[in-house]
Amino acid sequence: MKRKEFLEVSGLALAGALAPGRIARSALAEAGAAGGCRIEAKVYEVKLRHAWTLSRGTWNTRRNLIVRIEKDGVFGLGESAPIARYNESAESGLAFIEKAKPFLQKDLWTFHDLWYEMDGLAPGEHAAKAALDLAILDWIGKKLGVPVYRMLGLNPNKELVTTMTIAIDEVPVMQKKISEAADFLVYKIKVGTADDRKIIEGCRAATDKPFRVDANEGWKDREQALDMIRWMAGLNVELMEQPMPADRLDDIAWLKERSPIPIFADESLMMTADLPRIAAAFHGVNVKLMKCGGIQEAVRIAGMARALGLKLMLGCMVETSIGISAAAAVGPLFDYLDLDGNVLITNDPFKGVRTEKGRIFLNDRPGLGVEGAF
Ligand code: MG
Repeated sequence: MKRKEFLEVSGLALAGALAPGRIARSALAEAGAAGGCRIEAKVYEVKLRHAWTLSRGTWNTRRNLIVRIEKDGVFGLGESAPIARYNESAESGLAFIEKAKPFLQKDLWTFHDLWYEMDGLAPGEHAAKAALDLAILDWIGKKLGVPVYRMLGLNPNKELVTTMTIAIDEVPVMQKKISEAADFLVYKIKVGTADDRKIIEGCRAATDKPFRVDANEGWKDREQALDMIRWMAGLNVELMEQPMPADRLDDIAWLKERSPIPIFADESLMMTADLPRIAAAFHGVNVKLMKCGGIQEAVRIAGMARALGLKLMLGCMVETSIGISAAAAVGPLFDYLDLDGNVLITNDPFKGVRTEKGRIFLNDRPGLGVEGAF
């Protein structure tokens, strides 16, 4: 790309605008043009390969949103996987996106400032906010002709090993799910039931590979939780995610002091602003684009969590390849990945990052690197 073209598409003309000259001014005007953005948001029902049971409930389908923005002949894609625990639904997300439409007519190149403005439009609705953040960054990356991970300065050659999640079920079904995903290198086992020992023993009998265990706030008694953690530590369990309810930080800190394996926050953490409050209770945090409002906030959480000495996991909801490719773009920032949402569904309309033998491979397409019409 010639320098003039690069300036025109990149918005880096801003730097040039400091010096007098017609080219820099016209490039800035083009790059910063407001208005003319078309926004579409649709409900997309993702179908799960297996019933999805957590300590909170069971689902066979999930209602996500696919968002498409188009401006200057370039389109950007985003996805929202609403989280019921935070009072989000497809409908509440659609209502938020409707409210945000005028804000998308602003200068998309100021995506950093737009994120905060968007966040201020309404409390909550982080999954819908994530969809807009993803769509804007996909658009920016396509305008620049570079992948989002390049825009963020991340190394695409870092190995990205992901867990495969084994949701709660009858033990033989959980064993079957493990054997169906035999080429994954590590599994996330969901617990939080009265039969957790049977679940762990049964899964352990199916493979020697490491487990990460997630109780989704399912344990209410800290002494019992510690007994379980100590027992599991001898069964090649690498870490424990959200053993107790999100607000029981004193009990979780008590567990942290005694646990032989790291304790990670999931439900206890949404945004950067939560970190100072929860940091002392955990060894690490599970960041999700849908919890925090997208890629930009995930990067901020990662920076602050590192500064606080916390380990970093990147997780996901049940998502298509849009959401998973967006998460994978920030994957190199994280110590542990749990990005299997697109592998868990049977009707992914998109193609993005490739998951092979438990590893995720980024592609070199611009933006989020996602193909497929919707
Ligand atoms: Mg979790």
